[in-house]
Amino acid sequence: MAPSDTPKKSFHVAVCGGGIGGLCMLIGLLHQNISCTLYESAAAFAEIGAGVSFGPNAIRAMSLIDPNIKKGYDKIATSNAWPEKKKFWFEFNLGPKEDGWKDVKAPGKEGQRIAQVVALDVGQSSVHRAHFLDVLVNLVPDGVAQFGKRVERVDERGQKMLLTFHDGSTAEADAVIGCDGVKSRTRQILLGEAHETTNPTFTGKYAYRGLIPMEKAAGALGDELARNSQMYMGRHGHVLTFPIENGKTMNVVAFQTKMDGSWGDERWVLPMKKEDMFADFAGWGDSVLKILSLMEKPDVWALFDHPPAPTYFKGRFALLGDAAHASTPHQGAGAGQAIEDAFILSNLLGQVNSIEEIENAFHAYDAVRRPRSQKVVATSRDAAKIYEFEDEELNTDLELIKRRLEMRYDWIWNEDLPQQLTKAQSIMGVRASL
Ligand SMILES: Cc1cc2nc3c(=O)[nH]c(=O)nc-3n(C[C@H](O)[C@H](O)[C@H](O)COP(=O)(O)OP(=O)(O)OC[C@H]3O[C@@H](n4cnc5c(N)ncnc54)[C@H](O)[C@@H]3O)c2cc1C
Repeated sequence: MAPSDTPKKSFHVAVCGGGIGGLCMLIGLLHQNISCTLYESAAAFAEIGAGVSFGPNAIRAMSLIDPNIKKGYDKIATSNAWPEKKKFWFEFNLGPKEDGWKDVKAPGKEGQRIAQVVALDVGQSSVHRAHFLDVLVNLVPDGVAQFGKRVERVDERGQKMLLTFHDGSTAEADAVIGCDGVKSRTRQILLGEAHETTNPTFTGKYAYRGLIPMEKAAGALGDELARNSQMYMGRHGHVLTFPIENGKTMNVVAFQTKMDGSWGDERWVLPMKKEDMFADFAGWGDSVLKILSLMEKPDVWALFDHPPAPTYFKGRFALLGDAAHASTPHQGAGAGQAIEDAFILSNLLGQVNSIEEIENAFHAYDAVRRPRSQKVVATSRDAAKIYEFEDEELNTDLELIKRRLEMRYDWIWNEDLPQQLTKAQSIMGVRASL
């Protein structure tokens, strides 16, 4: 990895969007001593008040980009409270009452434990999103980010890339990285508005999200279920909980299936009607009903993901994070992929010595990142089918489900990121020699 005292590079990079992906990319570029500006459409950096969990791969990627990200993360990260449960990612339990299964026979009793999935040395590791964003923002020097800059166009103008913003202003850069999230404008520009993979697709699932003060959650559920991450599985729905904010708060996401597969509303996040949520979870057991009744200010989120894009770059213009590969959250891996992207791309750009070589770096980034991140998107959809007894092979066979759950995340969590970078560097070298 290049130390931050390497000579300043001769090119300037524009990063579009200041979420987890854009900020990690920016920090990576700064760490490589690459001149860069981040353009964020909002008036300030902001994240929603919810939890986000990271797998071992994502946490390693933080360290590899800049050890200060990991240091800051460690200060705010929360894991399961009980020592004997520290290594569990989730414990999987049956959620509905025995007579509450919609169209299949109950495979067991409500509350029955199906599996305990171990995530290496990390277990369940989560943060409050807004607090993690603060960690990242604190690593960005003044003057590098500009706000109120909604990117509308990206054009090649001779040697330069020209960005045009909603307010009519423009900016130049030598390379552009679109990190503007699932509804990405930069993806539309790069792939083309009419391209069949440009627009996100409704996945047929939606989720109620909310937080519960831990004391209330523990009072209702008992310490074991409240203070340690749990997943409640049922037919066409599942509910997950994990502790955040040093155990002061329980994060809840309660998933359901839209049986007609379509989402009619232009808005993807709607205020939630409690009666709709309880109707969705009719027939579920005590633990889940208590969780739902305690959720504070929940809202409902339609879950969209991206069809696999044929490329993540075009010339000196690339996509990163959700703009490239928005995923459902069923493996808790979407933001982690954005951090991996930032590790690989910032290091590749750190080896670029001239504007002409930037495209080689983007080519290598695309070659290693696209297959892996698109596999995360596809397997994330599959994960929900398992949790919701919709997987045709596993169906309601609890023993098969247990075995599948216990090993299905290993390829995400065990990734050797330095090795991935070495592979990308060699692809970049080969391309440079052509
Ligand atoms: C319900 C749910 C739960 C999830 N849980 C997890 C989890 O536990 N673990 C995990 O790893 N992932 C999780 N994810 C996925 C994760 O949230 C995303 O992968 C991650 O936040 C993407 O980060 P990003 O920076 O790419 O995009 P975003 O966070 O969407 O950031 C995009 C930024 O770009 C800005 N922007 C938008 N348009 C423009 C424009 N035209 N010009 C300039 N700026 C613009 C936006 O204001 C925003 O700041 C979850 C997702 C959902 C929906």
